[in-house]
Amino acid sequence: MPNGKLAGVRCVNLDDQNACRLHGSSSYPQVCKDFTPRRYICGKSNLEAYKKISILEKATE
Ligand code: SF4
Repeated sequence: MPNGKLAGVRCVNLDDQNACRLHGSSSYPQVCKDFTPRRYICGKSNLEAYKKISILEKATE
């Protein structure tokens, strides 16, 4: 996403399985490389991760 990802907007690089299409490629964004997944942020499921990250995005938008 050339102009960055807005809070609450699904990343265009996610595929139907919620996997990143850019992971491992030279186009993988630095901000994503710098993010270390943690259980307290990501939870145990996609839904839990979505809820927790939405709260963080809302707090930092
Ligand atoms: S890791 Fe980064 S580029 Fe990949 S889907 Fe997530 S936000 Fe998008």
